Amino acid sequence: MDKEKMLSNPQETIRVIKENNFTFRKNYGQNFLIDSHVIEKIIDAAEIDKSSEVLEIGPGIGTLTQYLAENAGAVKAVEIDDKLIPILEKTLAEYDNVEVIHGDILKQDIGAMFGGRPFKIVANLPYYITTPIIMGLLESRVPAESITVMIQKEVADRMKATPGSKDYGALSLAVQYYADPYLAANVPPNCFMPRPNVGSAVIRLKRLETPSVEVKDEQKMFKLIRAAFNQRRKTLANAIKNFEGLSFSREEVEAALTSIGLDVRVRGEALSLEEFAKLSDNL
Ligand code: SAM
Repeated sequence: MDKEKMLSNPQETIRVIKENNFTFRKNYGQNFLIDSHVIEKIIDAAEIDKSSEVLEIGPGIGTLTQYLAENAGAVKAVEIDDKLIPILEKTLAEYDNVEVIHGDILKQDIGAMFGGRPFKIVANLPYYITTPIIMGLLESRVPAESITVMIQKEVADRMKATPGSKDYGALSLAVQYYADPYLAANVPPNCFMPRPNVGSAVIRLKRLETPSVEVKDEQKMFKLIRAAFNQRRKTLANAIKNFEGLSFSREEVEAALTSIGLDVRVRGEALSLEEFAKLSDNL
């Protein structure tokens, strides 16, 4: 398609919105992209080529979808807002490799969508469901090779944070257990219509073939992590003792910490994922 006619041209987005009397719905997190450079960065970061099958979450009026259709082999796009479906039929009319599915992404059987073949997920995510979508995808056995998404900058920083930093927490550890995060771009509010109140970032999560650390009981480790960051100012031993779902005394945690060479007064925010795995195995 001629670049001028693409929705990444803000004039074209305004025209489509007016022509269809579309009104933005805040509760669906609708902030449409209007910057071609940002879209190109997303396509590059996702490493899309004609051999790629792509799932797009929330196509909106089809801005990113047009680029995906031009660069990928096949695209499936799941959109919840019924008002957008007839608009997408028009803006994507010239592409025969795109299928628009009307529905809620949280209720789709994503694993079955590509018949078990590997695929990539690309989205400018509705920010209100960023964490449930990403954690749901990482924890499931869905064969998504990578997830390249626009999310709140603050959430992207937490996903890639390392021990000791203020952004480091349960989300950093959960994401880094399953995937390798890469920050592809920081994106200011003026690249969207309407402008969001927060800064955004494009992050790519490449799923690891096996989790980044070995641990005997994954669930126990994640409970310990939750306990550690639930009260992050406390020592780890105090945060874990009496935490709901765990039954360890302070002395038991301190003994386990000593056995893996850590100070008994250490806080959770200082431990790496590997150290949480060791602690879990020792408790
Ligand atoms: N991809 C478009 C773009 O970049 O311009 C739109 C992105 S906008 C941030 C998020 C989109 O996700 C909206 O179109 C919204 O209606 C849709 N959406 C919100 N919640 C959804 C859900 N649960 N399932 C599927 N789509 C959803």
